[in-house]
Amino acid sequence: MKVHVDPQRCQGHTLCAMIAPDMFTLSDLDGTSSAMCDVVPSDQEELVQEAARSCPEQAIVIDGTTNESSEATIGREKTWETMS
Ligand code: SF4
Repeated sequence: MKVHVDPQRCQGHTLCAMIAPDMFTLSDLDGTSSAMCDVVPSDQEELVQEAARSCPEQAIVIDGTTNESSEATIGREKTWETMS
């Protein structure tokens, strides 16, 4: 799993750094966030996903998809579970 912060979207709300302080760092200049590393360690994956869900700007991109599309995927998976 990979993660990065879209600098065009990030507004520096700091939620991500509060939820996953080992994964996100805030700029001293403008307060925007960036990921400390591209590849998310397995013990940080849940926190990174929670941070992505909590970001009001949907600025956290996981594996090349925004949180919006991740939830759409989860929704599809639930549909399949229901159907089987
Ligand atoms: S929660 Fe979103 S908008 Fe706020 S600092 Fe983190 S990435 Fe930026």
